[in-house]
Amino acid sequence: MTLALGCIADDYTGASDLANTLTRAGLRTVQTIGVPADDLALPEVDAVVVSLKSRSIEAGLAVTRSRAADKWLRSRGASHVLFKICSTFDSTNAGNIGPVMDALRDDCGEAIVLVTPAFPETGRTVYQGNLFVGTVPLNESPLKDHPLNPMHDSNLVRVLARQSRTKVGLVNLAAVTRGADAVRAQLTELSAKGLGAAIIDAVFDRDLETIGLVAAGHRLSVGASGIGLGLARALVSAGRVSPNVAAAEVGTPVGGPAACLAGSCSQATLQQIANAERVMPVLHLEPEQIVAGGGEAQHALAWARPRLADGPVLIASSATPEAVAAVQARHGRDAAGHAIEQAMADIAEGLVQSGVRRLVVAGGETSGAVVDRLKIPGFLVGAEIAAGVPVLRAVGANEGGMLLALKSGNFGGPEFFSDALGLMR
Ligand code: ADP
Repeated sequence: MTLALGCIADDYTGASDLANTLTRAGLRTVQTIGVPADDLALPEVDAVVVSLKSRSIEAGLAVTRSRAADKWLRSRGASHVLFKICSTFDSTNAGNIGPVMDALRDDCGEAIVLVTPAFPETGRTVYQGNLFVGTVPLNESPLKDHPLNPMHDSNLVRVLARQSRTKVGLVNLAAVTRGADAVRAQLTELSAKGLGAAIIDAVFDRDLETIGLVAAGHRLSVGASGIGLGLARALVSAGRVSPNVAAAEVGTPVGGPAACLAGSCSQATLQQIANAERVMPVLHLEPEQIVAGGGEAQHALAWARPRLADGPVLIASSATPEAVAAVQARHGRDAAGHAIEQAMADIAEGLVQSGVRRLVVAGGETSGAVVDRLKIPGFLVGAEIAAGVPVLRAVGANEGGMLLALKSGNFGGPEFFSDALGLMR
């Protein structure tokens, strides 16, 4: 297997977002959880997105992990690697974007790297090197108060220069508008002056296509899902991928019992649970019992097992904001959240041991706990159930064929659970 595109994402949800974007653009894409084992058996795919949790860790560690991911991707034939960062350029003066970029550039022998977090369809645009979040510059957006990576400078040329060993330049919108050759000429000029990176402007979707065309001729780029989309389109138009096979492959039925787990307490999820009550048995867990260690997971499994043969079931810890606040006041927010996440992971593990092969999970942290517990190395990304929520086929799982849907709390329509199961055969 030769990968047309390798990606290293600095967090899990960013990785999912990119994998979904690449799939929609026609690339057969696998998202792995961490750097895969050397012998991971992959289906024939065009792209692999390695998910790391390296956005806010110490820079040296982020470099080591990213280099390991890069080595794995290159060993699978990836001639281009995209280092996927947040579209709001989350980072501090110590990194991690600059240090990781410098290391990966050295490893692949490139002189200069194109960098842009722009993704116009989601409101992230870059003009004269300044990042806008919707209508306001980055330093006036809510990111100025981010708890881990507060962003006080919207000029990304300056931001990246503070993090990188090399000087950083700008390829502005005027060059992008003139097209790929104009961008290439400017990159050559900047590189001749010894610059190691260039922030590139993008204000419209079509700018991403120009950027993708140029980036595809390099071995490394840095950016968010927008440049991923540009790269994907360039690879598709160059005939370097086989479009539309992924949906067919990921759609092969796995059969077996199905179950849903909800740990999100968002308004959307509460409504989705209420609607699911009409079509499947629903068990509401006792959060107090969970936090007190009262064997709620075993109780839930005993409830679910005899029902699985008759159709899907849903098990929820989700509660109204008032009930959540009461549990948190008694036990602390983190302790309560962690205990409930672990109980959900216990239940997921027990359900899979009981034969469940189709699992829908609502809640970002809840999904992370479940996936970690099931030790699933990666996913082939399939059809979208709702915007940003694809069907996932486990790759290299001990249990063999398995389908999952993992959604952040607010995602999905009112019938999300039925919609998901409808696509997960
Ligand atoms: P979302 O995607 O909506 O943010 P998450 O799963 O990321 O959902 O976060 C929900 C958090 O709330 C988790 O830590 C979960 O364990 C916790 N939680 C779930 N149910 C309850 C509850 N009834 N009371 C308190 N905390 C809860």
